[in-house]
Amino acid sequence: MAFFGWDKLKLIGKSDKQQINKKEEGSGPAVKCKRCGEIIIKKMLEGNLGVCSHCNYHSHISAKTRINLLIDEGTFVEHDSDLRSLDILGFERHGKSYSKKLEQEIKKNRMLSAMLSGVGKLKERPVAIGVTDPNFIAGSMGSVVGEKFTRLAEHALEKRLPLIVVSGSGGGARMHEGLYSLMQMAKTSAALGKLREAGVPYISVVTDSTMGGIWASWAALGDVIIGEPGAHAGFTGPRVIKTTINQDLPEGFQRSEFLLEHGQLDLIVERCEMRDKLASLLDLLLGDTTKTA
Ligand SMILES: [Zn+2]
Repeated sequence: MAFFGWDKLKLIGKSDKQQINKKEEGSGPAVKCKRCGEIIIKKMLEGNLGVCSHCNYHSHISAKTRINLLIDEGTFVEHDSDLRSLDILGFERHGKSYSKKLEQEIKKNRMLSAMLSGVGKLKERPVAIGVTDPNFIAGSMGSVVGEKFTRLAEHALEKRLPLIVVSGSGGGARMHEGLYSLMQMAKTSAALGKLREAGVPYISVVTDSTMGGIWASWAALGDVIIGEPGAHAGFTGPRVIKTTINQDLPEGFQRSEFLLEHGQLDLIVERCEMRDKLASLLDLLLGDTTKTA
């Protein structure tokens, strides 16, 4: 479990250290839960698959960790690992160029783009799998992420492999690439359309948070759409909606539980049960009753 990303959980200050002994046993670096604010020993959070033991918040984990959790050991073969975005528009924000930002993100995350894609086995079932990494520019979709998704879907079609994509993409479509990002919505949706016509199943797993152009394209187009508990997913965030319509929003708006109730998710699955659930679903979708999860 060496690939957790902690950028959304603040490292604790000195004033928090006294709380640790009261709240958690053990020692070592600690983090603060983004949702409930409890202090958690990092090692214990890792042991709990990145899920807060106090409030059940399913925190961000890296794409590599997600692959390790879902795919049989030693079976994952990465595709298109050499693709990286270019700063086509010469984009700058807050005085920093997109080129510079990309360099920093690549160094920090030790991957060239926000998506890890490839093939592997899930409880012995061959699958094509893609995972966006929430630590790489908020898992946002630029031209390379869209291209990797599309190539993965095309590979799944050619080999008739079920496709699973886990989205952790609070960044939606990446603004740094403008229309080059936005056109990925149409491209990925078209690739999924071909998959659907051919009867190859696609399961979309939505994690906290999945927003904007990703929710409005591939994340919401699954034959089965699964949410992690409490995951936030939607096109526009609640603050903007509230300001626009000048009304208070319902409790839990855009969270998994709300989305399930309103028909936008099919299932909510705990992280510790995701691998088993995906295996069961694959058997159902593929009509294979010879294996059990
Ligand atoms: Zn918590």
